[in-house]
This record gives sequence, structure tokens and C-alpha cells, in this order.
Amino acid sequence: MLIDTHTHLDDARYNDDRDAMIARAQNAGVSTFVTIGCDLSTSRSAVELAGRHSCVYATIGVHPHEVKHIADDWYDELRRLAQHDKVVAYGEIGLDYHYNHSPPTLQRERFREQVCLARELNLPIVIHTREAQDDTIAILKEERAAEVGGVFHCFSGDAWLAKDALDLGFFLSFSGVITFQNATMLRDIVKTVPLDRMLIETDCPYLTPVPHRGKRNEPAHVRCVAEKIAELKAVTVEDIGNMTTRNAQRLFKIP
Ligand SMILES: [Zn+2]
Ligand SMILES: [Zn+2]
Repeated sequence: MLIDTHTHLDDARYNDDRDAMIARAQNAGVSTFVTIGCDLSTSRSAVELAGRHSCVYATIGVHPHEVKHIADDWYDELRRLAQHDKVVAYGEIGLDYHYNHSPPTLQRERFREQVCLARELNLPIVIHTREAQDDTIAILKEERAAEVGGVFHCFSGDAWLAKDALDLGFFLSFSGVITFQNATMLRDIVKTVPLDRMLIETDCPYLTPVPHRGKRNEPAHVRCVAEKIAELKAVTVEDIGNMTTRNAQRLFKIP
């Protein structure tokens, strides 16, 4: 059994076949899905999907791209959504200096606020970080994120970031990026990460793994990620499934 720990199941690309796609993934051995909030409306959609499907859990939070839209009432509404019993984490939050869709100064301010909110709500944190490794780790330390822990989703940082994240008690989640031809450095990092600190994800509909490149990504493809990790760690894909499932259950308190 596999858990896809980072999906965007509310994405409009799934509007025509969402339920069929979830069923297809379950037939492929993916038992459980975590669908991620990126702003207020997608956080609401995530909670709504989790309410409708027993196999779906939700996160809530505001992605660094979207933090410029945060209005006065958003945090109270997120606090209210967090009371739903299938909300298992706060995020994805963090810093993204690649696109800078929101100004970097504002990204840092909102990231700090949301780490505090996650601690208030006692929820683990789902981190998104791109081209912002130093600031991300510094803010997590300064805002005492280790008290709730969490996961660096779609990990694609340097070896030092992997080490710092593990030292902070965080999990690292790997996506289809590890199957990409140019991801040699990342595959070397996978080899060094302990199996009890690893999660797997698709980040669907993005980041379709090899050999499905060019098509819409979906949770059934999380198996490709598990297979690649198994190859790199020289263990069976069943071992990777068991370990990463147990890790996800532990982090997200999923039964
Ligand atoms: Zn992300
Ligand atoms: Zn995402």
C-alpha cells in the first residue's frame, strides 16, 4: 500500500474524471491521499474533498505564490477549517524566490506568521521551498517549527538542506523529480536519507514522472517514485511502500 502525501486533487484538470481517477489509483495500490491547500479557496476545496472521500485527507494554508492575497479574515477562516477532523497538516507554506509571485519580504513575513499559526493549531507543516534554502531553514528555526515538525515536500535542495531538515526533525518527501534524467544530485541525496524519514508524493497534476512525461500527472503514478527509491536504496518496492506509509501515518496521525 502507498500513500500519496501531496496532491492537488481539486485541480480543474480533474473535473471530468476525479472520482474515477481516485478509484484508478486505489486499484493501483494507492490507499490514501493528502490533498493540499494553497490559498483560502483551495483549502476549502481540500477540506470538502476530504469530507466526501474516506481515503482523502486535507491540509490548509497559503502557498508563497499566493500570500499577497491574504486578507484580514483569512487566518480566522483557516483556524475554523482546521477544526475539521480530516485536516492533518498546515501548508503548503514557505518561500519561492524562483517566481517571486509575491514579494520576498512579504513571503518571509507571511511564512513566519503561518509557522506560528501551525504551532497554535498543533499541526505539522508542509514546506514548499525553491531557491530560498537559507531563509527557509532560518525561519523554521527562529519560529520553533520543530515543536510541530513537518515535511519538506518535493525535496530538491542541496545535501546540506537535507541534513539540516533531518536535524530539525522534519521528513523529506520525494516526487517524480527523482526520475528525471538530470536529477543525478538529487538521487545521490535519496541514497543518504534514512528510510524512516522519507515520504513519497506525486504533487499531481504537476511533475509527471518518467515514463509518463508529457501527460497529466495523477496519484497512481506515485508508484514510479516508490520504484525509483527502491532501486536507489537496493530494497524492494514493498519495503518502500511499508516504510513511507508508516512514516506518513506517524507524521499526519492518519489511522
Ligand atoms: Zn509546492
Ligand atoms: Zn503542491
